Amino acid sequence: MGAHHEGFEADDDGAGRAARRDEAVRAAVEQGLLGPESPIVGLLDVTGIRESAAELRAAFDAVVAPGTPVLHAFAVKATPLVPVLRLLREEGVGAEVASPGELALARAAGVEPAMTVLDSPAKTPAELREALALGIAVNADNPQELERIDGLMASAASRSPLGIRVNPQVGGGSIEATSTATATSKFGVALRDEGARDWVVQACLDRPWLTRLHAHTGSQGIPLSLMARGVAETYGLAEEINRRAGRRQIDTLDIGGGLPVNFASDATTPTYAQYARVLAGEVPGLFDGRYGLVTEFGRSLLAKHGTVVARVEYAKSSGGRAVAVTHAGVQVAARTVYAPGSWPLRIAAYDSKGRVKDGPVVVQDVAGPACFSGDLLAEGRSMPVLEQGDYAAALDTGAYYFAHHYAYNSLARPGVYGFWPDGRFAVVREAQTVGEVVAESGGAQVGALTESP
Ligand SMILES: *Cc1c(COP(=O)(O)O)cnc(C)c1O
Repeated sequence: MGAHHEGFEADDDGAGRAARRDEAVRAAVEQGLLGPESPIVGLLDVTGIRESAAELRAAFDAVVAPGTPVLHAFAVKATPLVPVLRLLREEGVGAEVASPGELALARAAGVEPAMTVLDSPAKTPAELREALALGIAVNADNPQELERIDGLMASAASRSPLGIRVNPQVGGGSIEATSTATATSKFGVALRDEGARDWVVQACLDRPWLTRLHAHTGSQGIPLSLMARGVAETYGLAEEINRRAGRRQIDTLDIGGGLPVNFASDATTPTYAQYARVLAGEVPGLFDGRYGLVTEFGRSLLAKHGTVVARVEYAKSSGGRAVAVTHAGVQVAARTVYAPGSWPLRIAAYDSKGRVKDGPVVVQDVAGPACFSGDLLAEGRSMPVLEQGDYAAALDTGAYYFAHHYAYNSLARPGVYGFWPDGRFAVVREAQTVGEVVAESGGAQVGALTESP
């Protein structure tokens, strides 16, 4: 890499965001959003989300040729909450969806078809028909899906921009489960498999309506250089297709998401601007105006703007280890609880009034409420001692955490609130009631197995 890639300017150290978060926790306790009767909430920093969206837009605006069409489509799976999608839409960000539910959320948020991209690996004929009828961009995952699209295109005209998802097979990152460009990944057409690249080229030459290529090299744990290589491979393929076609058939490259998030401190690193510059260095032709661009960032837009805060119900000691038993565990942080090595979270300690704790530091476990011994948000963590009635906050949990409820022990989904720096809160998602838990657990079918049908 050239020197200009290493001379990054100082990162945003996140101090402003941390101050807003501390103030929101205090205000949530003061206003009774958090307390003995409401021992867990998710908080979203509205200011921070807007800032990240603006940084994303500015980062690509700075590197593309003037007039280049750029669609930033938020990967809905990262934070599938309708008000969040609406906020991002207001910031000029569309939606990348991968299921009928995600598409419905995007539509409920008012995201227009022209700002929506459908990418699931298992689209049914009905989903494809709906997407094509609406004019939503679709990336076909595999030859069989493309065959289905052939049938639909033959029966009705569609405005949908259509593409093929490719797997550049550039390799994985540090987390296997989120590495999508490995040799045997389930996603896309594996470009290095025998005959696959020629198949993609021919598939495009045979179908003038295929105008896009899509690649998403992975999520969290993938270094920028590997992400850039995945994009470079895809760009090279588009160039080859266009050369063979004798025209600019592929007019848009969808470069996916995957910018990693720093879970170790408040700093935002890497930044969108850094990634855009790495891409400009590694794939110069990408931004020269010949290709429109689609991005699909998820985690990097939301992670640092979410905090799950839980009350310490009991503080105890076990085998000499201090254990804080809180209301946040596997139900809001499944990845961290089941794979703590890959997904460590910072935990902040607040006192019973929601003020930052800075008392004596002890080594302690921060446990969740679920009935299995591995339900720990943090194990052996040195931090200010958590006492009964204090609050423990799991930081950087705005993506793939409290919005992804896991109903272990029939624990209810916590309420989610957006906050502003002046102490205002807005309900983003109501807390689930125990009655709703019963209803979704077959409550209305109580006699289903005891009364003959
Ligand atoms: C999950 C996913 C994304 C978003 O990944 P992040 O790591 O959250 O940025 C984008 N595109 C596709 C196809 C995905 O599956």
